[in-house]
Amino acid sequence: MLIIYPNKILKKKSSYLRKNDSFNNFINEANDILKLNTNIGISGVQLGFKKRIFAIKYKKKILFFINPEIIWKSNESNFYSEGCISIPDFYTKKNRSNFIKIKAFNLLFKKKIFFAKNLYSACIQHEIDHLNGKLINDGLIAQFGRASV
Ligand SMILES: [Zn+2]
Repeated sequence: MLIIYPNKILKKKSSYLRKNDSFNNFINEANDILKLNTNIGISGVQLGFKKRIFAIKYKKKILFFINPEIIWKSNESNFYSEGCISIPDFYTKKNRSNFIKIKAFNLLFKKKIFFAKNLYSACIQHEIDHLNGKLINDGLIAQFGRASV
């Protein structure tokens, strides 16, 4: 089931996924959500599965990334307009590296290197933020907190 902000689980850091963890439920739900919606990425924690895994819709395929690590990102960056399926009707601009290289495992636990640019680079940075309990509205909530004192 999709977890919606401000559910506190979204602020938790996800732990590494192990080979013998069962993640079929996440795969099925992530497939359904990415097929039925316009969002291009979803991470485990957004479906209540607090493990380091995310999926993206890429060239009409759905790709899964397990225990991803950023191994390189470009200094060149841009502001990307972003939304999050866990934060309905909220959009903001985030500064993201235009190019990114990540190391991850696929569903067969084979190591792979994935290079992404522009929208997909921003998307992958967004999903990895989810794995670390970071949301696109984090800074804005802090600002609101100060303003309302
Ligand atoms: Zn999101």
